[in-house]
Amino acid sequence: MLTLTCPVCGVTAEETEFHGGGEAHLKRFGPGATDDDLEGYLFMRENPRGVHFERWRHAYGCGKWFHAARCTTTLQVFGTYPAQTFEPPKEICDKISEARPGWSWRAFK
Ligand SMILES: [Zn+2]
Repeated sequence: MLTLTCPVCGVTAEETEFHGGGEAHLKRFGPGATDDDLEGYLFMRENPRGVHFERWRHAYGCGKWFHAARCTTTLQVFGTYPAQTFEPPKEICDKISEARPGWSWRAFK
């Protein structure tokens, strides 16, 4: 069972209390974007076997969105952090690198 901690209200609960919202840190494109940029934003997603950054919502709690870094194979959670960030916190990336040397995900290492 996946256990997450909501960084907004501090509650630690099983995943049934949360709702997954897909990949985190997608770059949105505005008017004037190319068709390739828009296609990438709408359809291109990472689906790694390993460390992944995801959006989650505390659906049966405070209702707020947040981000989580977790391993899709072991369900190890490396950390959760507020959704109002453009990239994962350095301490979470360091924790992942320590556990998984050579790890990278999109532009993050
Ligand atoms: Zn919460």
